[in-house]
Amino acid sequence: MRSTSFSQLVKKDLLKNFEEVEAGLTKQEASEEANRCLYCYDAPCITACPTGINIPSFIKKIASGNLKGSAKTIMSANPVGASCARVCPTEELCEGACVLNHSTKPIMIGNLQRYATDWAMQNEQTFFEANPSNGKSVAIVGGGPAGLSAARELGRIGYSVTIFEAEENAGGLNTYGIVSFRLPKAISYWEVEQVKKLNVDIRTNTRVGKDISIEEILGNYDSILLAIGMSNVPDLGIVGEDLEGVYDAIEFVKETKTKPLTDEFIGKKVAVIGAGNTAIDAATCSVRLGAANVKILYRRSLEEMTAYEFEYEFAKQDGVEFRWLTAPKQIIGDETGKVTGLECIEMVLGEPGEDGRCRPIPVEGSEFILEVDHVIKAIGQSRYVELIEQFGLNHDNGVVQINPGTYQTSNKKVFACGDVIFGNGQGEAMVVSAAQQGKESAYAIHQAFSSAIVETA
Ligand code: SF4
Repeated sequence: MRSTSFSQLVKKDLLKNFEEVEAGLTKQEASEEANRCLYCYDAPCITACPTGINIPSFIKKIASGNLKGSAKTIMSANPVGASCARVCPTEELCEGACVLNHSTKPIMIGNLQRYATDWAMQNEQTFFEANPSNGKSVAIVGGGPAGLSAARELGRIGYSVTIFEAEENAGGLNTYGIVSFRLPKAISYWEVEQVKKLNVDIRTNTRVGKDISIEEILGNYDSILLAIGMSNVPDLGIVGEDLEGVYDAIEFVKETKTKPLTDEFIGKKVAVIGAGNTAIDAATCSVRLGAANVKILYRRSLEEMTAYEFEYEFAKQDGVEFRWLTAPKQIIGDETGKVTGLECIEMVLGEPGEDGRCRPIPVEGSEFILEVDHVIKAIGQSRYVELIEQFGLNHDNGVVQINPGTYQTSNKKVFACGDVIFGNGQGEAMVVSAAQQGKESAYAIHQAFSSAIVETA
C-alpha cells in the first residue's frame, strides 16, 4: 500500500523531472483502503475538513464502485477538491482526526479523494448546472481558489458572474504557485473548466485598476467580491537584492510552471531565505533544476517553521539542508553584478513578540559568509494595498476588514474572501480554507440580495 508521504521519491531521476512525485492509488489499493473505513457516525474527519466534505460518504461510494457519485460528493463541498486532494495538509486535518489513528493507521483520505477526482477528470465528468438567471450580476476580482469557489456557487444559484483575472489563466496559486511535481497545472485547469461550464465569464489577462477601472467594476455590477490573494515576496531590506541571481520565490516557482526549464541552476549553490510552504517549493525546484547544494536559511528554529511536516520531510529527502537561527545580512556580488555569496548572522530566540512568536535576535560578531550563486527570497508575501485603497476599503496593513458573518467590507456592495482577509486572526492560509470562504461569501452575497428583496416587498 502506498504511503501518504513522499517516501517513494526516486532521487536519481530528479534532474529536470517536474512530473508528479506521487503516483495515485491503483483500483485495488483504492478499493482495499475504502473498505477499511468504518463509515463513522458523526465522523470526526468531516468536522476536521474546512469544506466539510462528507468523507465517509465519498469513501463508501468508492467501495461500491460509484466513482462518479464519489467525485460529485467531493466537488459539491469543495470546488477545488481535486487540487486539495494533492495539497491539503491531511495529516493535520481529516486524516489527523480519523478514529483509526487510535488503533492502526488513518484512512488515506487525501489519496482516495485524488482517486475519485482523477477518475472524474479522466472521464470528463461535469457535475453542476447553472440555475436560470436571477437577473443579478457579480464581479469577482481574482480567479484563484477563493474566487473560483465563489463563482461556482453563485453560478449554480443563477447569478451572472464575471471573474477578472490578471494572469493568462485562472486558478491562482493552484495554477502558478504550487510546484508541478505536487500539483500539475492540468488539475487546476480542470477545476477552472468546471466553473466555466456554469456560464461564468472568466476574463484573463485583465488587471483591475489597469485594464478595467475600479469605477467600471463598482458601477456595472450589483455586487463585487474581492478575492485577489496576495502579491510577490517583499524585499529583505538588505544590500545586494538587485544583483543577478536573486529571485522572488513566487515568480521562481511560476516560471517553472510556465516557461522552459532553465540550465542556470545546474551545479550551482542556492540559498533560500525563509521556511514556509513556498520556501520548500523553491528549494525542491532548485534541486530538480540541478543545483549542487541547496540550503534553507531561517532566522528562527524548526519549532517556528511554518512549512508543514510532510514538506519538511520531502525537502530533506531531496537533500535540502536547513540552517536554523540564521539570517541574511547582505548579498555579495562580483564586478559583473552576479551573486557570489551571502553574508549571514547567527540568531538566538528572545521573548515572544505581540504575535506570540519568539523574536529572533542577532548574535553580535557571529557573521559568516556562505558561497552561493543564487539567492531565493521566500519570506512571505506582500499585499495589494494600492488596489484595496482604490476600492476605498478599510484595511489593516493590506488585510481587508470584513464583517466575519457576512464577508462584507466597509463598502456594503463589496465582499472579500481568501488570502486578502487572511491575517490578524481571520482565517487560515490554506487552499481549502480559501475554497470554503469562497462558498461562504457566495452565500453571504445571495443572503444580502435575498434580504433586500424581502425588505423591499
Ligand atoms: Fe472513515 Fe476515519 Fe472518517 Fe471514520 S474517521 S469515517 S474511519 S475516514
